[in-house]
Amino acid sequence: MMLSQRVRTIEPSATLGLNAIIQKLRADGRDIVNFSVGEPDFDTPEFIRAAGIAAIEGGQTRYTPVPGTPDLRRAVAEFVGAERGVEVAPEEVVICSGAKQALTEAFLALCDPGDEVLLPAPYWVSYPDEIRLAEATPVVVTPPEESRFRITPEHLEPHVTPRTAGLIINSPSNPTGILYDAEEIAALVDFAEAHDLWIISDEIYERFVFSGSLASPFSGKGRERTILISGLSKSFACTGWRLGWAVGDPSIIGGMSRLQGHTASNACTISQYAALAAVREPRHPDLDAMIEAFAERREVALKRLGEIEGLDTVNPEGAFYLYVDFRRFLASGEATTSFCESLLDEKGVATVPGEAFGTPGWVRLSYARSIEEIERGISLIADHLKVR
Ligand code: PMP
Ligand code: GLU
Repeated sequence: MMLSQRVRTIEPSATLGLNAIIQKLRADGRDIVNFSVGEPDFDTPEFIRAAGIAAIEGGQTRYTPVPGTPDLRRAVAEFVGAERGVEVAPEEVVICSGAKQALTEAFLALCDPGDEVLLPAPYWVSYPDEIRLAEATPVVVTPPEESRFRITPEHLEPHVTPRTAGLIINSPSNPTGILYDAEEIAALVDFAEAHDLWIISDEIYERFVFSGSLASPFSGKGRERTILISGLSKSFACTGWRLGWAVGDPSIIGGMSRLQGHTASNACTISQYAALAAVREPRHPDLDAMIEAFAERREVALKRLGEIEGLDTVNPEGAFYLYVDFRRFLASGEATTSFCESLLDEKGVATVPGEAFGTPGWVRLSYARSIEEIERGISLIADHLKVR
């Protein structure tokens, strides 16, 4: 018996796969500095946990409406609208089991088999497979070296075909930390308008903005063609609660809800109650303290990496990743994957190779770690490079 073509063409998640290897190494007693998975190391704040516990104890343990409880849809609409300076209606919101499910449903709702989706590289690991699940084709566009991975309409233009259905924007970006400013976003919106494309705007790192401010295609005239994706995982330190959302035109949200009605029913009811508390207080002191800690870690990580000669890092304006060019240290023909494996084997430092993001030669470091670990990990990397 054979698995479907659909499943045979998708790869396991590189980031989650690596995380599983690290858990195993740790269980075997190895001391690992884990710069691999992108997950806040902070516990979910008390006020969000308490809302989850109250939901269980108050008997909120049954199905909810497929797109989420009316209260949560309203609260997410208010939260998303307030952060971006627009009015959002609850009918424009669907609550999903994480941003991953929201993205997958969006591609399934927007793409017909054979459609194409423009995907700027480096890209987050799961986009190509989520697009392929919808039997569409990810069209990877890597900006030329001198543009430092900042995508513009000029880079995208030659890749547009009659089958192009959408464009992915992920700002702040995983893996580069790039944050597009309002002007860059406006240019991408004009491009999408000229070719009548959907914009899938993944804004899951919305609170991790360290220089400049968040600009969203949902704020201005791009709004009608934008499906905004975000959730609790990063900005609220809630990865395990599996709670995300999509915001966009009610017809798309309705289509995604129909899909969800047959796949997940609704996102976990308890998590929805926790989310209600979270989005009603997005500037809770516990959350602000987490963002401040990340700002400090970013400074330390950048300074320490800057001390290693020969490494070049994309300026990380947001998210919590450093995307670093290791090409000067790779032997001719050496895959970045094997370099990262040797770093893990010999020095116990876990990183994600650029192959996972479509740009070999580069390595992603997640600095969602304590300052002590960041300093130790980067000095182990420096030691490893000395013998190269
Ligand atoms: N988008 C990006 C860019 C991410 O880095 C992640 C990481 N998990 C997700 C989406 C998925 O988030 P979630 O945990 O809400 O499924
Ligand atoms: N998004 C995070 C990462 O890129 C978590 C793992 C995943 O969901 O892929 O590491």
